[in-house]
Amino acid sequence: MKKVPFITKDQLEAICQKYPTPFHIYSEAGIRQTARNLYKAFSWNKGFKEYFAVKATPNPTILKILHEEGCGTDCSSLTELMMSEKCGIVGQEIMFSSNDTPAEEFVKAKELGAIINLDDITHIDFLKEVAGIPETICCRYNPGGVFEAGPNVMDTPGDAKYGMTPVQIKEAYVRLKELGAKEFGIHSFLASNTVSNEYYPKLARTLFELAVEIKNECGVEINFINLSGGIGIPYTPDKEPNDIFVIGEGVRKAFEEVLVPNGLGNIKIFTELGRYMLAPNGMLATRAIHEKHTHKEYIGVDACAANLMRPAIYGAYHHITVLGKEDAPCDHKYDVTGSLCENCDKFAVDRMLPKIDMGDLLVIHDAGAHGFSMGYNYNGRLRSAEILLKEDGSTQMIRRAETPEDYFATLEGFWG
Ligand SMILES: *Cc1c(COP(=O)(O)O)cnc(C)c1O
Repeated sequence: MKKVPFITKDQLEAICQKYPTPFHIYSEAGIRQTARNLYKAFSWNKGFKEYFAVKATPNPTILKILHEEGCGTDCSSLTELMMSEKCGIVGQEIMFSSNDTPAEEFVKAKELGAIINLDDITHIDFLKEVAGIPETICCRYNPGGVFEAGPNVMDTPGDAKYGMTPVQIKEAYVRLKELGAKEFGIHSFLASNTVSNEYYPKLARTLFELAVEIKNECGVEINFINLSGGIGIPYTPDKEPNDIFVIGEGVRKAFEEVLVPNGLGNIKIFTELGRYMLAPNGMLATRAIHEKHTHKEYIGVDACAANLMRPAIYGAYHHITVLGKEDAPCDHKYDVTGSLCENCDKFAVDRMLPKIDMGDLLVIHDAGAHGFSMGYNYNGRLRSAEILLKEDGSTQMIRRAETPEDYFATLEGFWG
């Protein structure tokens, strides 16, 4: 599907008068619409809730917008818990889905009344020791082997560090019940960035069948099933996006076929989406500052992998639009690079684009999730600002850009 920026050249140039490039820009309207569609797609399930994966876009303004749309947070670290708390998102509106969890983080999660999602059976005793077993508890499942859902989705949970085996998870529920837990959930994340309407329904069916087994074999009734993240987005324009309504309907069908006949029709469905919620609703705005003609044609921009790391570390494709040249022919082949002293610091390699002139504004699409948040400070590069394009067309800076003082701040006494 053709990638159309949610902003025009004139709009973005006006914003640049106030905030210099590079910056991440998010569409409030897009975020709200995505959340509303998700809730609509799962409205058949009483108690459905999305716990937004904070790691995807850890910004309080974004978390509050999502909270207004009914979403809680999925946290996996102390600072994510702290951010959620400060946003007023506490108690069972937090899912604490961590792994290799330090004691202090379990303590904080318990204190906030978060739903704790245990990654391993040994964490039962660890949690009991450090914070006590709460009444509501969740366990993360890993069936091992290979997980396939239709022709486009394949992943290998058998190689993943997460979750408990089928034998362990049943043992875990029995033990947790003995220790006083009263409400139980199952969580599982078996494939990432799936561009397929078949992943969630297949995962759901697997977990629904497990819930029936747990009821019959362990005498433990599951109250909620957390399908976690994994619904992806098409980064390339040749792919069609997922249809959340088809996905919701697929999960409903499995629910009706597996849970309802087994007396488990009250189970609540939870999700922990990150990428699906935010990726298309954010872009990295950057300006062409150099052109270089050597063995290849290079366009140097003022952003680098410190602002968006996915192309550098995964070779990930991110679509690029040269603003104002949306309809110009893509008859120039470029590598679009950042300034890091790493040859992988390229937003695009051999990309066909319109002729780029110095000063042109480029937007790098689908950077709203796992974009800013993966940023780092290599080469002393600073993290950029984050700007919110509000529904009324105005803008708000929701995080300022780092300054050199920020960079030096942890060298106590070195910088003033
Ligand atoms: C990363 C993560 C998510 C979000 O994944 P997306 O691919 O962004 O949807 C959800 N839950 C857990 C436990 C995660 O680690």
